Amino acid sequence: MDDSVIDCDAGRRLGCSTFCCRLRVRFYEDDRSPGKDGATPKGCVDKAPDGFCIHLDRRAHRCDIWETRPRVCREYDCNSDYLLQAAVRLGVKNIVQLSRDAQKTPIHKADWIKVPACGCADEPVNREKTND
Ligand code: SF4
Repeated sequence: MDDSVIDCDAGRRLGCSTFCCRLRVRFYEDDRSPGKDGATPKGCVDKAPDGFCIHLDRRAHRCDIWETRPRVCREYDCNSDYLLQAAVRLGVKNIVQLSRDAQKTPIHKADWIKVPACGCADEPVNREKTND
């Protein structure tokens, strides 16, 4: 992956449907917050009933904790994920359906659609809502 951050606005314009924020976000060991009152720290970020991460602002389609998002979110590269290719071609109802559709949809690597980098170090650009 390039050093720049993926331009998520460009991804939404391509039709990614912010599917990455429906994936399971499993914390690295050193990324976990201590549990309250001695409880075991959570292993994953909670999901809302609609399948999206609880930190995704549904109106703006933005991460509410962008600056402090988990390391796995920082490291994830949608451009190397086959699910992106299925998402931009087939749409996304939910992550299970997307995974099934992706398995049935061969897309040659030469035809992969890439989301451009935004050219910034680690900040989202253009925090305006986009249509998707
Ligand atoms: S923490 Fe932020 S970047 Fe990570 S899945 Fe949730 S909304 Fe997306």
